Amino acid sequence: MAKVLIVGGGISGLCAGVLAAKNGFTVEVYEKNAQPGGLCAGWTRRGFRLDTGPRWLSGAAPGGEMRPLWQAVGALGEEMGPGEARPALAFSLGQGQTMLPLLRCPEDLEEAMLHLSPRDGPEIGELCRLLRRTSQLSFPREKPLDMMMAWEKVRLGAHLTARGRLLPYARQSAGEYARSFHHPLLQALLEKVPPPGASASFALLWLGQALHPHGLYLPQGAILAQRMAAALEALGGRLFTGQGVERILLSGSRARGLLLRSGRTALGDYVICACDPWLVRSRLLGPSYLDPLLGQWYSAPEKYPVSSFLTVYLAIPGQSPLPLEAPALLPCPPFSLAGETYDALWLRRHPGGAPNGFTLLSCQISQSEHQCDAWLRLAQNKEAYGVEKHRVAVMIKERLEQALPSWGQSRLLSATTPASFHRVTGAYKGSPMGFYLAPGGKLQNSPGLVPGADNCLLTGQWLQPPGGLSAALTMAKFTLQRLCALEGQEFHL
Ligand SMILES: Cc1cc2nc3c(=O)[nH]c(=O)nc-3n(C[C@H](O)[C@H](O)[C@H](O)COP(=O)(O)OP(=O)(O)OC[C@H]3O[C@@H](n4cnc5c(N)ncnc54)[C@H](O)[C@@H]3O)c2cc1C
Repeated sequence: MAKVLIVGGGISGLCAGVLAAKNGFTVEVYEKNAQPGGLCAGWTRRGFRLDTGPRWLSGAAPGGEMRPLWQAVGALGEEMGPGEARPALAFSLGQGQTMLPLLRCPEDLEEAMLHLSPRDGPEIGELCRLLRRTSQLSFPREKPLDMMMAWEKVRLGAHLTARGRLLPYARQSAGEYARSFHHPLLQALLEKVPPPGASASFALLWLGQALHPHGLYLPQGAILAQRMAAALEALGGRLFTGQGVERILLSGSRARGLLLRSGRTALGDYVICACDPWLVRSRLLGPSYLDPLLGQWYSAPEKYPVSSFLTVYLAIPGQSPLPLEAPALLPCPPFSLAGETYDALWLRRHPGGAPNGFTLLSCQISQSEHQCDAWLRLAQNKEAYGVEKHRVAVMIKERLEQALPSWGQSRLLSATTPASFHRVTGAYKGSPMGFYLAPGGKLQNSPGLVPGADNCLLTGQWLQPPGGLSAALTMAKFTLQRLCALEGQEFHL
């Protein structure tokens, strides 16, 4: 049995591990942190369960196109289902007393928008037509493009035609498109929901995917990794936590194993890098081992930027006075941070994370790539970083209290910055998702190959912009399909 060594026990590494074990490989997963899950993790602070991970598992409900794959890797459980973040509502945007609920049903959404701003009627009609299309768009999940038969490519062509309708929007930014609407909440929808600087076509894809039906509510993001780690071990695979990988050991153009930070070596027949490819380039192998397409993305931030966010976790006594069923963008008194002005906060309630008598909230603001860079630079000085993080967290807490005075005093529990994600998982510039597209960027998948290391493969969210859980999972499946092809065997889900 060929032995596969996997670097990284995030969602993609665990998925690759489970699928490799199912396909008869001997599997060892090496994760640098004490817990698996990577960006999908949680921790406890003063009796509160804080969770970084996603709450909505897109396409995983019965009938959803991602369900068979999530099931195959043992990630789904009975605790997941329609709950607080009801499928009807993706999120809502607020301005003064007015709210725009982002309803998952396109007809209801159109009606809510027309009610909000009748004079934007024609633009709303076109926007909803596009959102209907992008919400139904499913990314190819069958197999990597280069492994497809001719008839499969024809089917893919039909899918790309649907994407083609977005082309006229690829040349303008979401901000420019937003200005074709009169109502500030419709402008905010296009400008503040997608990542900063996104192209209009990307914003439409992003919003469409948020409205995608057949999602499952996750009580805690960390549950996914726990379930997949258990599935891996049940299949005989081994997960080594607290075991960072220092280098990939090469013998000519073949990887022969891993040098661990502990000094130990692990030998195997294949290496799958399920961490950020930038780490493979900068630490595990070297610059010449980067796939050229990925290299293009990393070196053109004007077309393929990344972004992140700053999150402040707050406890308030009693039950939440707001029925926050899904994240909401709430207006607040303006404040500035690293050259950007903010006048709204993303607010989210974390049911199940607070002890009795309290409500746990997170308040979030987006951070552009240059702000991520600034946090990473600051984090090199631990003390100065701690002081600035606390200052910003207190400022955000005060803005929330000013915006919602009836809530009374909140208690600051914790704050995370892009530097937190970078430190914990090694994510490029602390981005929780992959690259996204600014005007001029093209939507493509990286093949996940490592030039110069024939038996080394990449996987993870970075191979398919804009990343996310579905990308992490799909890319892991593609990697296993390649691996099985290299071994001359059929792939089984
Ligand atoms: C707050 C938040 C909200 C999110 N919301 C959503 C959402 O709503 N929908 C969605 O689809 N996605 C969402 N995401 C993104 C989603 O969590 C990620 O797409 C997904 O978890 C990425 O998985 P991955 O395995 O590709 O990468 P990672 O999670 O980054 O996994 C890489 C792993 O490699 C490990 N590693 C790195 N270097 C080494 C080394 N040298 N040795 C050993 N191990 C190493 C890391 O510790 C990590 O565990 C969110 C993320 C965050 C943080």
